[in-house]
Amino acid sequence: MIPMVDLKGQYLAIKDEIDRGLLEALEQTQFILGPNVRALEEETAAYLGVEHAVGVASGTDALHLALLAAGIGEGDEVITTPFTFIATAEAILYVGATPVFVDIDPKTFNIDVAQIEAAITPRTKALLPVHLFGQPADMAAIQALADKHGLVVVEDCAQSFGATIGEKQTGAMGVAGCFSFFPSKNLGCFGDGGLITTHSAETAEHLRVLRNHGSWQRYHHSELGFNSRLDELQAVILRAKLKHIDEYNAGRRRVAHRYSAALAGIGDITPPHEDGIGRHVYHQYTLLTSERDAIQQALQEAQIASAVYYPIPLHRQQVFAQQCEGVSLPVSEAVASRCLSLPIYPELADEQVDRVVEVIRGVLG
Ligand SMILES: *Cc1c(COP(=O)(O)O)cnc(C)c1O
Repeated sequence: MIPMVDLKGQYLAIKDEIDRGLLEALEQTQFILGPNVRALEEETAAYLGVEHAVGVASGTDALHLALLAAGIGEGDEVITTPFTFIATAEAILYVGATPVFVDIDPKTFNIDVAQIEAAITPRTKALLPVHLFGQPADMAAIQALADKHGLVVVEDCAQSFGATIGEKQTGAMGVAGCFSFFPSKNLGCFGDGGLITTHSAETAEHLRVLRNHGSWQRYHHSELGFNSRLDELQAVILRAKLKHIDEYNAGRRRVAHRYSAALAGIGDITPPHEDGIGRHVYHQYTLLTSERDAIQQALQEAQIASAVYYPIPLHRQQVFAQQCEGVSLPVSEAVASRCLSLPIYPELADEQVDRVVEVIRGVLG
């Protein structure tokens, strides 16, 4: 049995540290915005090379609050990709703005930067690129467009903790970076959690108010806020795992490169493409094939998991029917019909990777 992710191995490897930290936190009983959340914010800010990091309740909330803090609201348009998890675009609707979907690059599946400018209108306020599957979007080109048109860039880094462009981490390039600590993410906790990064002290302060009922001082509420704090116990787990994130991401790259080397020669498989702009951290290993159903069936019979991320691009989702009537984004649609994600996690052994490849080879000859 080979699952898509195996969280247990990672836990067992650092169980003593996690268990000890959790017990200490239970004894301390500072469960809301306690010392571990504060320490994690400092440690992640240092790792990511940003001035400030603010823990929140989820990656979805990170996007929502970051857009609010960036002043995006009613009547504004935010340009993003249709080939992402729904949360990216949900956050745009939460602040009352309208998502405008721009088609993706057929090789990297990230937003096609060459098509962004045509989608900019006088209402456009922000660009919201996603570093999809762990591969950084072309931030230099995106920032250049933003500068030219006076837009802000908010990064969706939910799948890219530890991915870099040159010396810079994803999340350190836009006005804000939004991370998810959902258990299966590259840096995952044991429940929900999220983080927003920013270089601006003012934005960080605003985010701390927004996540805590619009309160800058207990029982003083300056604006409509939310209950969206990162949980203290999750922070304990994240602090323990953060020390190993480079090792985890290196493990993902080892698995990905082993898959790609073995799959390269097989007909009707296009392994994921690294465009060289940044360092891919392989949140997912997603290939293209027109034999998806047959491969998935054979894998299932061999007790190997596989998944389709994502089967329906967002402009084709019912929730966006109103915004996207008549919108056609052919690359996203074609990729959605042919993409297939294979199991990938740092602890996946070479023999297991080879076994997955052997089953696929059996289908395609
Ligand atoms: C997981 C994910 C989110 C949402 O994160 P949650 O912590 O589950 O709310 C947002 N964007 C992308 C691209 C994601 O993969």
